[in-house]
Amino acid sequence: DDSTPAIDAAVTERVAQLRALLTRYNREYYELDEPSVPDAEYDRLFRELQQLEHDYPSLLSATSPTQKVGGKALDAFQSVRHETPMLSLDNALTDDDFTAFSKRIAERLDRQDAIEFCCEPKLDGAAVSLLYVNGALTQAATRGDGQVGEDITANVKTIRNIPLQLEGDFPQRLEVRGEVFMPIQAFEQYNERAAAKGEKTFANPRNAAAGSLRQLDSRITAQRPLHFYAYNMGVVSDEVALADTHFGRLEQLQQWGLPISDEIKVVQGVQQCFAYHQDILQRRAQLRYEIDGIVIKVNDLALQQDLGFVSRAPRWAIAWKFPAQEELTVIRDVDFQV
Ligand code: NAD
Repeated sequence: DDSTPAIDAAVTERVAQLRALLTRYNREYYELDEPSVPDAEYDRLFRELQQLEHDYPSLLSATSPTQKVGGKALDAFQSVRHETPMLSLDNALTDDDFTAFSKRIAERLDRQDAIEFCCEPKLDGAAVSLLYVNGALTQAATRGDGQVGEDITANVKTIRNIPLQLEGDFPQRLEVRGEVFMPIQAFEQYNERAAAKGEKTFANPRNAAAGSLRQLDSRITAQRPLHFYAYNMGVVSDEVALADTHFGRLEQLQQWGLPISDEIKVVQGVQQCFAYHQDILQRRAQLRYEIDGIVIKVNDLALQQDLGFVSRAPRWAIAWKFPAQEELTVIRDVDFQV
């Protein structure tokens, strides 16, 4: 039927333009580790495209950047197919966005009482998946496009706070998801030394972490001060009873020797999420690592399951971003000199 109104050519053109821009920025950010625009600008264009696709559903396409996760895995590495996909997170850019998220959840779950949430810092590094078989670290992969990532096992084995062997009563097969990041002080020292030697510096700790992880020579990665915090489990074999809350599972990971952030907190209801957001935002500058916001997750795993997923992100979690920091000064300065 022809009930849908004709779409203005200007809208179609803007959608094509936004897709082309975001595709280019994704490549620069995920594949080259060299973004040319600040995250806030990227987020603004992404939102604009999401809104247009929402207003004109006939323009939606499975290949749109709004439906995809990350970037393509580089050919220089062996590829790894993730047993469970590594997804992205929906973003809340304002308090109102977060309130809307909490209302959506309460409605879907048909709950009027306070829901329990797990609040975590949003570490600004690179997502990795670690596979432990019989307690031994056997494979490590980047997120890639969410389905297929890059095999970076040799590089990850050089990161000191990632255990090569688990301890305690661990499951025989365990996938761990977490973030590899470069602490701020180490990042600054690294850049100072690189600049003094006339070598390439990194725009920010995130690019430093992602770039260091994807070295073809693991001896180079070994010299980079990388750290890791686990934030979830992927596929787990079933000989060990698992906790039925997200935080309970993080504690299990910790018992098996995996590091988790000590800023993670379980709270009751929306008001306590706001308090956590305020608290971390105020202490942001004192943290040893860069964060670009917090992540709020429904803590009860049965509720997570009820909520499920949309194309690229779970419905039970949201990345509540902090106001943008000017992070592209380094790149801009270089551009001006050219
Ligand atoms: P995201 O960074 O918004 O959120 C998902 C990621 O958060 C996960 O993959 C994980 O790596 C990370 N994370 C950190 N702490 C976590 C925790 N405690 N629990 C769960 N996950 C945690 O999504 P994304 O898809 O990785 O990237 C999209 C964002 O990247 C954009 O919003 C934009 O800011 C930035 N980006 C910028 C450019 C650019 O050109 N500047 C290009 C592409 C993307």
